[in-house]
Amino acid sequence: MRRDHGLYPILSVEEALAMVLGAFGPLDVESIPILDALGRVLAEDVHAKGDIPPHANTAMDGYAVIAADTYGASQESPKSLRVIDNLAAGYVTDSAVMQGTAIRIMTGAPMPDGADAVIPFEDTHQEGDVVLLFAAVEAGANVRFAGEDVRDGTKVLARGTPIRPQEIGMLAALGHSRVRVHRRPRVAILATGDELVDIDAPLTPGKIRNANGYSNAAQVLKYCGAPLMLGIARDNIDDLTSKIHAGLAQGADLLLTSGGVSVGDFDVVKQVLVAEGEMTFWRVRMKPGKPLAFGRITAEVDGQSRTVPVLGMPGNPVSAMVSFELFVRPALLTMLGYTELAKPTVEAVLDDALDRKDDRRHYVRVRIEARDGVYHAALTGEQGSGILNSMVLANGLAIIPEDWTHAPAGARVRAMFFD
Ligand code: AMP
Ligand code: MG
Repeated sequence: MRRDHGLYPILSVEEALAMVLGAFGPLDVESIPILDALGRVLAEDVHAKGDIPPHANTAMDGYAVIAADTYGASQESPKSLRVIDNLAAGYVTDSAVMQGTAIRIMTGAPMPDGADAVIPFEDTHQEGDVVLLFAAVEAGANVRFAGEDVRDGTKVLARGTPIRPQEIGMLAALGHSRVRVHRRPRVAILATGDELVDIDAPLTPGKIRNANGYSNAAQVLKYCGAPLMLGIARDNIDDLTSKIHAGLAQGADLLLTSGGVSVGDFDVVKQVLVAEGEMTFWRVRMKPGKPLAFGRITAEVDGQSRTVPVLGMPGNPVSAMVSFELFVRPALLTMLGYTELAKPTVEAVLDDALDRKDDRRHYVRVRIEARDGVYHAALTGEQGSGILNSMVLANGLAIIPEDWTHAPAGARVRAMFFD
């Protein structure tokens, strides 16, 4: 096999992303408790069974009155009414408000019969069972009407809606303790490298700790996936192949590897992809993250043939994370049922000049901050793909287009926040 895999043209980020997304669609639907549904996408329309609020109620603490009884009331010439009851939220009263009377009432309590307005405490003074009104109110003032939030029978949440805290509140208000959503993608995560040891193992000479397995798993969690931790594969075909098969056997919807995908003597990920399935592309015109491989692996699982997409990300810790943001995040969102996949970007002024010696699109680690109404992006340090610290200091990535030879300070660029 030619080491440069010359059959594979280097792709633009957009070309590569289109190929990746072609391999994914929304996963099957499950019914889960609403609190587990944060970040998922509704797989059903939700209709209201009943009005919200179910009954007219007061929006203020005050007195339920007949508006006409208050007309002409002012600071100088207050009107007076007789208080016939005191109504807290959560209770109903048999008393009705009649001309010349009022019911003391607390926010959320149902409007008593006869009353058509509420006059807030601030405009009143009560002594004994007589209340003085220092202002007039119109009919309907400070009243929340039945169904003013949600009307019985209407479609309140549409299938395809991403579930945020407000959707969960609405589902609760509508009486749903469970909801139908697309299930979580299971993402198998495999770090590759003879040099890697797990976090707590001793760092013997030549070894480094496996960072990518954990940063990538955290990214999976961040985007509502379920990581399957496959650990570390050594840089040989047998170990890599058997660990990948383990990922398929555990039901992975996507398999991520990091490392071993470049042109080194022991970079075997591409060979395994070609031997066990198919490699769709290799290399993307970006920095960091150029040696990115995508394809699929087919294996027998429980007597059945299973094919799973595989993304082979570069091993440098920043390359693995940036590749994830650009290619894995949209794949996860697609499986969850999202249709809006692009991460929003803002225009930012680059605070530092950048030189470049290639025709790749650069994703540079920056701290994005608004100053005088304008976003500024300042480099967070060394941009080597192994420098995780500048990733830690960054809150986003600034995007330097591939056709720029130089990015001077003051240039306007697109930038994306991590969050
Ligand atoms: P590779 O892509 O395998 O050539 O690896 C590129 C660089 O990333 C090497 O310096 C590796 O030691 C390092 N590296 C690979 N995998 C990991 C990992 N899981 N955690 C931290 N560093 C890694
Ligand atoms: Mg390696």
